[in-house]
Amino acid sequence: MARPITATIHTDALRHNLGAMRARAPGRRLMAMVKADGYGHGLETAARALREADAFGVAAIEDAARIRAAGLAQPILVLSGFDNPDDLDQLRALGAEAIVHHAAQLDLLERTDGAPIRVWLKVDTGMHRLGFAPDQVREAHARLRAARGVAGDIALMTHFASSDEFDAHTPNGLQTPAQMRAFVAATEGLDGPRSLANSAAVLGWPDAYGDWIRPGGALYGMSVVAGRSGASFGLRPAMTFETRLLAVNRVAKGERIGYSATWEAPEDMPVGVAAVGYGDGYPRLAPAGTPVLVNGRMATVAGRVSMDLMTIDLRGQSEARAGDPVVLWGDALPVETVAEAAGTISYALTCGITRRVRFVND
Ligand SMILES: *Cc1c(COP(=O)(O)O)cnc(C)c1O
Repeated sequence: MARPITATIHTDALRHNLGAMRARAPGRRLMAMVKADGYGHGLETAARALREADAFGVAAIEDAARIRAAGLAQPILVLSGFDNPDDLDQLRALGAEAIVHHAAQLDLLERTDGAPIRVWLKVDTGMHRLGFAPDQVREAHARLRAARGVAGDIALMTHFASSDEFDAHTPNGLQTPAQMRAFVAATEGLDGPRSLANSAAVLGWPDAYGDWIRPGGALYGMSVVAGRSGASFGLRPAMTFETRLLAVNRVAKGERIGYSATWEAPEDMPVGVAAVGYGDGYPRLAPAGTPVLVNGRMATVAGRVSMDLMTIDLRGQSEARAGDPVVLWGDALPVETVAEAAGTISYALTCGITRRVRFVND
């Protein structure tokens, strides 16, 4: 029997969410982040559905090549930039742009004799991952302006660490305004478009819109704001992750279910066995009590999630039968709810769907 697991990608939801993000930041340009295979939704599917975006953002040059092969001509920004002359040649051949975040990249752009490329100068305003420290920005900018490998305006960007906290009274609630001030100070007087805002900043920090917004998760309908699903911001989930029941068993009171016998039936009851497990990308750490939808009605995980299977408490659903549909996340069950139960974030779940799952577009 073929495994009945599908991830259905709702391309109309992707388009809706793009419009919703544009509506929040009118007049700004929008870079659609499609890294990590479009947050697990499929790079080509996501990029085609989001073709009205002004640009795409990807992690690596190979992803830029896939977008071009899909027939899309928009600007593409490669977040990791380049490490050697060969990378620069590939960027040129693809007509892609690159982030410059460390000094060795300035040397490469000064020495290259190939055609110039467009670059984005990344400022580290507090994330402390990639980027030039604020006091190095002016010198880096001057070197880029003079470098023969650089074409056109140099865009200026930074990335927020805590923009999902909108409230000054939460532990990191003051970090976003501090990063904004650091960015303004580091880039004051330099020409070039500005870009700061990821999805959460578009949702909660209008002062950070700049010239280019860079939403990712929100385009797929997801939110990383604590306690709020994407739907609560008017976004629509772009993925439904679904399987079927393989069996419904009667389990006697006191029997224990699954690995390590962690879950004990509190009464004589039906237990469903669904064809999905961590081998498909359902989180193993989703505890008993995590919601699933059986025939569109709420039920819960019982016992440990295993590699190919999981067991479901079907009390109250005595009519459920083998073959019935089980939604793991989607429209009526936000992926954020499952992520919170499993101690992770929605992005990690959609990115974690494995290759044996069949992807379908609707
Ligand atoms: C991933 C990423 C984004 C988008 O973040 P979301 O939370 O998905 O909106 C924006 N900018 C950079 C540099 C990123 O790496």
